[in-house]
Amino acid sequence: MINVTKTFLPPLEEYQKYLEQIWGSNQIANGGKLWYELQAKLKEYLDSPDLILTANGTLPLQIALKVLAGNGEVITTPFSYVATTAAIIWENCTPVFVDIHPEYLTIDETKIEAAITEKTTAILATHVFGNPCNVEEMDRIAKKHGLKVIYDAAHCFGVKYKGQSIFNFGDVSTCSFHATKIFHTGEGGAMFCKDPELFKKLFYSHNFGHKGESEFYGLGINAKMSELQVAMGLAVLPYVDSDIKQRKTVYDFYKEALTDTQLNTFKLRDGVEWNYSYFPVIFSDEKQLLKAQKALNEKEIFPRRYFYPSLSSLPYIKKLPGLENSESISRRILCLPFYADLKPEQLKEITSILIASQ
Ligand SMILES: *Cc1c(COP(=O)(O)O)cnc(C)c1O
Repeated sequence: MINVTKTFLPPLEEYQKYLEQIWGSNQIANGGKLWYELQAKLKEYLDSPDLILTANGTLPLQIALKVLAGNGEVITTPFSYVATTAAIIWENCTPVFVDIHPEYLTIDETKIEAAITEKTTAILATHVFGNPCNVEEMDRIAKKHGLKVIYDAAHCFGVKYKGQSIFNFGDVSTCSFHATKIFHTGEGGAMFCKDPELFKKLFYSHNFGHKGESEFYGLGINAKMSELQVAMGLAVLPYVDSDIKQRKTVYDFYKEALTDTQLNTFKLRDGVEWNYSYFPVIFSDEKQLLKAQKALNEKEIFPRRYFYPSLSSLPYIKKLPGLENSESISRRILCLPFYADLKPEQLKEITSILIASQ
């Protein structure tokens, strides 16, 4: 059986080495020694702003919205994982969808200004499959209208844009360290922020608002990453570079095999150093996709319809016109199995089934 992703597991004895340190210190939560170590190593590896480790990749979206978006309207993309929209509604904000660019698959920044009202407080956009939004233009729009920018950068571990970490952009960027992502801590995530004042607020917000043991800066919730999650991260991190390198060979295989077919993938923005996180194929129509999916499933190969459905079709969202690209692409996009140790024979099998099904 071949699934769409396969979680990378480090050698057990390397994970165990970290667990032994935890057993030695007897500290498994609230900022143990390993927690500091992972923070420092990630900041260095990513060349990123300061970061706050979190229990998953959804809580940092919620905290950033809570701190920055009031209960206002949040301009967002309908083409993302459900967490992006759900976090907005969960925090009592109102999502206002703007359609996506048909090739980059990120929010169409040329349509943002028309969606701004006096209630708009923030933009929450996703760097889809690690492909950055048009961050310069979004920065300009946000400044002009006094809006905050939050990036759901869940897919972006290791991505650089024009030589900088992608986590440098926006008021806050978040990442997911879920087991299906390139770097993981089982469940986990982080938020990145350059502004020291805002960083402080995000930090105490993720730790019940604590100032000291019995003093409080303000409202907070618990989004802390535990030392056990940290141990997994420390054991996984040394393998990320070679994992991404191997993923590149898988990517090159797919790309080569699918040239001169009707099967497209998304367009990477210029200036991006990418992390080879996903290989989506965009079919000419949903019928073709279903045919290919069925043919692959018959051989125990399980690609994933991702992102599907368009978030504008969620049962708790009021239907609105003008989201044709997101609605059309979400019906036609299939993420192929993509992980480092896919064998050439497996890749050949996948691509020949795909091509034969057309
Ligand atoms: C994975 C993912 C999330 C959620 O992250 P969790 O760590 O699973 O909470 C949010 N947004 C996007 C785009 C994702 O892919």
